Amino acid sequence: MGDQCARNRALTSWKREPSLTDKNPFPILVPIGLVGAVRFARIHIKGGVRVYAVDEHGTGREVCFTDTGVPVSDLRQIIDAGPEAAARLEIGGTAVDGRLLAPHIPARNIFCVGRNYSEHAQEFARSGFDATGSPDGQHMPEHPVVFTKPAASVIASGDVVDPHTDITSALDHEGEIGVIIGRRASKVSRDEAMDHVWGYTLINDVTARDLQRDHKQWFIGKSLDTFCPMGPWAVTADEIDIHDLRLQTRVNGELRQDTNTSQLIFDVATIIETLSAGVTLEPGGVIATGTPVGVGIGFDPPKYLTTGDQVVVSAPGLGELTNIIGPAAGRDRLRPAAGAELFVEKSGQGSPVVLIHGLGAPPPSTIRRPPPWPSITRCCATTCPATAAHPGTARPASPAGSRS
Ligand code: MG
Repeated sequence: MGDQCARNRALTSWKREPSLTDKNPFPILVPIGLVGAVRFARIHIKGGVRVYAVDEHGTGREVCFTDTGVPVSDLRQIIDAGPEAAARLEIGGTAVDGRLLAPHIPARNIFCVGRNYSEHAQEFARSGFDATGSPDGQHMPEHPVVFTKPAASVIASGDVVDPHTDITSALDHEGEIGVIIGRRASKVSRDEAMDHVWGYTLINDVTARDLQRDHKQWFIGKSLDTFCPMGPWAVTADEIDIHDLRLQTRVNGELRQDTNTSQLIFDVATIIETLSAGVTLEPGGVIATGTPVGVGIGFDPPKYLTTGDQVVVSAPGLGELTNIIGPAAGRDRLRPAAGAELFVEKSGQGSPVVLIHGLGAPPPSTIRRPPPWPSITRCCATTCPATAAHPGTARPASPAGSRS
């Protein structure tokens, strides 16, 4: 692939385009010879994971480092290149067969903002699922309501959402704009905040409403496996006017959510100022900015998602994040392989790694089992009052490394 980039080096180069915003420190990357905006997508091809620049026609071209010809395999490499990225990257050959991945997997949990559109805050209050309501009954937040979703819940556009029907019967969608941090942010002011934004993507903050309600906080209901579709690509901030961006969500073609980011209660700058006041935001960090009115529980009766439903979140420039609600995955997500007593599990993304357990295991009678957790009396000497009060309860010293 490096050779492919090298061959195209003489044919293609990057140029700097004017930003929509004066202050944005991350330059737009437009390959000469391509028309329209560049979006960065991650694709799993035969040779591994690669980052592709996708033009408006959907054609993806491999992104490589100019000096080495080495292909970029992670969006974080482009983010870390910072303002110099335009000079260090070039495009190579077009994408062939491959599977689209989420454009980016953050190293830490995804920060999420709840009740960040006023009409959604009201529909949430009316739904009866908000167990964290404010005393005034309006559920209009005075400060950003922040929770997180684990990075492990991220899936790509086109992937199947597990409905987890064994633990929830109230599956819902939340189309949102995702912010990707480009520069470490610690205690930044609102005026400085946008300097730390690298770009944007789309997120579906899939939610189990009953779990969200019953657990009195939002983490579990929003963090189940596959509950964070993201993509289909990531776009540099220059490409997007985040203050005036239409955001829509359709379920089976029905327009459910239709708003503009100008309606955010707390805009992106305020969210970054709030978070970074005490939590350092690292490059590659992702923030889901909140969902507008039109979620399933906003209807009477509620319109929950079921197996076979298609959810499409879209915004100009950010594409369409499309996911199907699948059948519930089996226990441990294991399935028989080739009819043998062998079970396989596929998780994560990237090149496959095969782990085989149990081959050559000794007979059960020879298996050494770990010692039981020691009694608290074992930690005491014979002079310990507790031992003296209960003679015979002290156990022999356990092997080194045991807990006492
Ligand atoms: Mg949300």
